[in-house]
Amino acid sequence: MVKAIVGACWGDEGKGKITDMLASNADIVIRFQGGSNAGHTIINDYGKFALHQMPSGVFNENTVNIIGPGVAFNIPYFIKEMNYLKENGIKNPKVLISDRVQLLMPYHILLDTYEEARLADKKYGSTKSGIAPFYSDKYAKTGIQICHLFNEEILRERIEAACEIKNVLIEHLYHMPKLNPEEIFNEVIQYRDLIAPYIINTTEYLNKAVKEGKNILLEGQLGALKDPDHGIFPMTTSSSTLAGFGSIGAGLPAHSIEKVYTVAKAYSSAVGEGAFVSEIFGDEAQELRLRGGDAGEFGATTGRPRRMGWFDCVATRYGCMLQGTTDVAFTAIDVLGYLDEIPVCVGYEIDGEVTKEFPVTPLLEKAKPVYKVLPGWKCDIRGISKYEDLPENARNYVEFIEKELGFPITIVSNGPKRNEIIFR
Ligand code: GDP
Repeated sequence: MVKAIVGACWGDEGKGKITDMLASNADIVIRFQGGSNAGHTIINDYGKFALHQMPSGVFNENTVNIIGPGVAFNIPYFIKEMNYLKENGIKNPKVLISDRVQLLMPYHILLDTYEEARLADKKYGSTKSGIAPFYSDKYAKTGIQICHLFNEEILRERIEAACEIKNVLIEHLYHMPKLNPEEIFNEVIQYRDLIAPYIINTTEYLNKAVKEGKNILLEGQLGALKDPDHGIFPMTTSSSTLAGFGSIGAGLPAHSIEKVYTVAKAYSSAVGEGAFVSEIFGDEAQELRLRGGDAGEFGATTGRPRRMGWFDCVATRYGCMLQGTTDVAFTAIDVLGYLDEIPVCVGYEIDGEVTKEFPVTPLLEKAKPVYKVLPGWKCDIRGISKYEDLPENARNYVEFIEKELGFPITIVSNGPKRNEIIFR
């Protein structure tokens, strides 16, 4: 059975925890898109971990973790994370890398950094991990596949071709030192022997595993609203964040995904620029930020404070729809226990009209939140393991939101730890 775990909105919904939980009985966990530009926080028996590129099944001895062809694969980052895991007690993480995955090259990071600097106050809020230049190269067919490492002639040729184009931009637009293809070649080739043992044809491996009825988990990064086609373009990421893309980015049959767990957090947070309708500011936001997550809402990759807001039913319903949700995992509800009243955004007012449909970006910029205010429960609900034992107002909060979304909330997470979970 293939399951996907994906985000409903802007990311940071707590996918890492839900994946870690579901990964404990998964045979295979796959990353199918994105790269080291976002992070998961996982707290388990080994301690607290921030993972960026590594699939979340690495903590289980029996789980095979796959980097699918859809990922922007950063080799030095992979080696860094592998060492980080080993230094922290995970002796032998089982990882396989697709022989078709493309490489995030040093110049992708440079170009991302130069472009953000050039855009100055018009910037996208990129994490400067090179993701946009990477996917641009992939679709312009100037990217480099990991298999090219094993053919020096092709590798050299492709690096030279990529540098030729990039050097025009670097010299004339960014006014920075030109790339030296030979240096880049030498830098990349040094990783070849280190990475070779992990590389296989993961697509054959996965399709066989599906036939054998293995338990397979697709691990999404970011959330539906960051999808380049369906999200808040252009404040999106550069690869699809949708469960449907899991089949492509992993190399699985389109019909194989049976369950889609969409993770939605009980309040909103976002990073980067762009419209965020239910955003709150000042002390109100700071209080939620400090109480949020396991140690405040600060980026797992960048450490930067996340933008905060109330739960947004319009955005989340849209996100759940895009994901093809079968189950909603509703996280971090414990965080809201300090509030007397909890506003929930149930509609957007645009040019005097109220809508529940998530609009295109120019209209989104104009949208004002329509709130319904629900009573709080004013107590700590961590440690509760049965849904019936939650305070009535907490249950009402879950059920109100479930109705607005139109998708079943089957998992409620009431704390960052693996066992702080309620199944409905
Ligand atoms: P991801 O990228 O979707 O995995 O999200 P992050 O890991 O960046 O952010 C989620 C944060 O919320 C992390 O700090 C988690 O440890 C934390 N978290 C996850 N579930 C819960 C929960 O139910 N309650 C609380 N308080 N924190 C949670």
